[in-house]
Amino acid sequence: MERGTDYNRMDIDELNRQYQALQEKYEGFKSRGMSLDMSRGKPCPEQLELSRGMLDILSSEDSLKAMDGTDCLNYGGIDGIPEAKQLFAQMLEVGASEILVGGNSSLTMMHDALSRAMLHGVYGSATPWGKLPKVKLLCPSPGYDRHFAICELLGIEMIAVDMLPDGPDMDAVERLVREDDSIKGIWCVPKYSNPEGITYSDETVDRLAGMKTKASDFRIMWDDAYTVHHLTTKPDRLKNILEACKKAGNPDRAFIFASTSKITFPSAGVAVLASSEANLNFIRKQLSVQTIGPDKINQLRHVRFLQNMDVLQAHMEKHAAIIKPKFDIVLNKLESELGGKNIASWIKPNGGYFLSLNTLDGCAKEVVRLAAEAGVTLTKAGATYPYGSDPRDRNIRIAPTFPSAEELETAIDVLCVCVQLASIKKVLAS
Ligand code: PMP
Repeated sequence: MERGTDYNRMDIDELNRQYQALQEKYEGFKSRGMSLDMSRGKPCPEQLELSRGMLDILSSEDSLKAMDGTDCLNYGGIDGIPEAKQLFAQMLEVGASEILVGGNSSLTMMHDALSRAMLHGVYGSATPWGKLPKVKLLCPSPGYDRHFAICELLGIEMIAVDMLPDGPDMDAVERLVREDDSIKGIWCVPKYSNPEGITYSDETVDRLAGMKTKASDFRIMWDDAYTVHHLTTKPDRLKNILEACKKAGNPDRAFIFASTSKITFPSAGVAVLASSEANLNFIRKQLSVQTIGPDKINQLRHVRFLQNMDVLQAHMEKHAAIIKPKFDIVLNKLESELGGKNIASWIKPNGGYFLSLNTLDGCAKEVVRLAAEAGVTLTKAGATYPYGSDPRDRNIRIAPTFPSAEELETAIDVLCVCVQLASIKKVLAS
């Protein structure tokens, strides 16, 4: 594929000519009156169809008893049915006694974990976090906007830390947590991260597990949302954080979260929390005041449908067959339209739901505005940073799964024209 010319090396006349040609293209898109939404990472309708059979898997004639005799129609089973614990223990490579199976949303579990910490502290806390003058969480950025929204809601101060190609900037993380006891935790999307699609290296996992923290009740919010969501036959491997924490002598440091939202249904999935038995015992006590038990019918449905890791992986391959071509559309278009022009960079992910595009500094907001005017809604610029503020105004999250291939082609065409228009303006101005 022929690559473009570096915009920084073009003379002013050339840049102006290029701008005019792009502006015409842009007006053409605008006149089509499109309405395309690329803002959220949702499975597309074909993906949802893959799990439709799960809805028929239980019948009113079944006894609906779990393997330990628990009647799934009745109250009880505060932390999930044993067969669901077994399945998710395999998925997350932890022991069945280290799993708590909950309702439909891991985001709820994350929100509740931090709410409990604010109200009551975590296992081993001397003081509830909310009674301290300040509580801070490290936020590797770009990151997941809904994590940041939880912190804002609960009054937890966020400190952005740069993401590097193998995870958060660990030199900065180690320095910060060593010196400040109001830093109580860190958000992590360790595999196929949202939005960059990168996976933490073994060294990063070990450093997170072993680092010296001034807060004795420091927690890693390990959001393993995309643990089985591979796009290639050579998936990334993520080192086991619970094991690493145990080995480092910090057995209670990690809360692992995951769900089947993007395995079965976002509306009716099953969410899990994996952690040390001490942490889970502490949480179970509070949970038993909050509920008399989760939706065990849905847990049973999931276990009967997904069965074991072989069946689950085969199911995930069907997802990949639908969404991998969409990632390819985006990557090929970015390369053909923006490659070589020295105005944008991106990483090719091996899994997950997102890609992220870095424009020239100061261009992301303008690109998102231009795209919106042409009928393409992107995730708000800045959303991938705490407080919605990207210090370099350059990161744009791309969510390719929901639109059809045809819509995606057009949306990325529009995006690429907008990136070029904003970049030329910036280069001309400087
Ligand atoms: N974590 C991450 C990193 C996500 O990207 C998403 C969905 N976009 C979620 C959590 C939401 O998970 P759930 O549906 O289980 O609440």
